[in-house]
Amino acid sequence: LVSREAREENTVVQVGHVAIGGSQLAVIAGPCAVESRDQLLAAAHMVQQAGAAILRGGAFKPRTSPYSFQGLGEKGLKLLAEAARQTGLATVTEVVDEHSLELAVEYVDMLQVGARNMQNFRLLQMVGRSGKPVLLKRGLSATVEEWLMAAEYIMSEGNGQIVLCERGIRTFEHSTRNTLDLSAVPLVKSLSHLPVIVDPSHATGDRRLVGPMARAAVAAGADGLLIEVHPEPTQALCDGPQSLTPSQFVSLMEELRAVAAAV
Ligand code: PEP
Ligand code: MN
Repeated sequence: LVSREAREENTVVQVGHVAIGGSQLAVIAGPCAVESRDQLLAAAHMVQQAGAAILRGGAFKPRTSPYSFQGLGEKGLKLLAEAARQTGLATVTEVVDEHSLELAVEYVDMLQVGARNMQNFRLLQMVGRSGKPVLLKRGLSATVEEWLMAAEYIMSEGNGQIVLCERGIRTFEHSTRNTLDLSAVPLVKSLSHLPVIVDPSHATGDRRLVGPMARAAVAAGADGLLIEVHPEPTQALCDGPQSLTPSQFVSLMEELRAVAAAV
């Protein structure tokens, strides 16, 4: 179902009033985790003014360590809904299981399946039945074929509103958090009709590399970007080193407009 043979035209995924996969570059931005009302509202107003279309923020955080901040849960979802009301932004948040999914569908416009859950087939089936658009991240060590098969799980439940997100894969290289596989963008777009976006934040783990990789992703044909931004990255409870400052994000959005106009 996800292949080009099954459907020739590009799929456009509708997230609230935002289209992903159409002519406009869709930028999803916001903090790694929803930490507080002040933090989220500051981030939301800032990314909206800079031209982002969708606000992100994790309320259920799958962390490497069980002792790291795990997210605010439903309180975080309520804050996302409040930020959406104030700014008009659409929203996306990660779901990790049945409980978080049942809560998230009440508050956000799009559900994210994280890299660590890309092959959680029960979760894929549940988001496939949720009636919400899905942002499907590539697994840490997933091949392109495995990634597309994960999308197939969602689509076979009747949900074709899927956006694929390249977020870097695990390689022998340790000087970046992951290795961004940019070739996956044109490759997956040739194999599938689904929109493909790039997350240079989790791919690199380093805010200095986020801008160059974001520009390269747009040049490579990405339909959108997912960028972590924090009002005060040094205070972030999660992924501070890769989060852009507000002024860096504003400059990047200007640069991206120039690249998008050239491709
Ligand atoms: C995230 O987007 O916050 C996240 C945890 O990303 P990933 O699943 O790609 O690691
Ligand atoms: Mn993160």
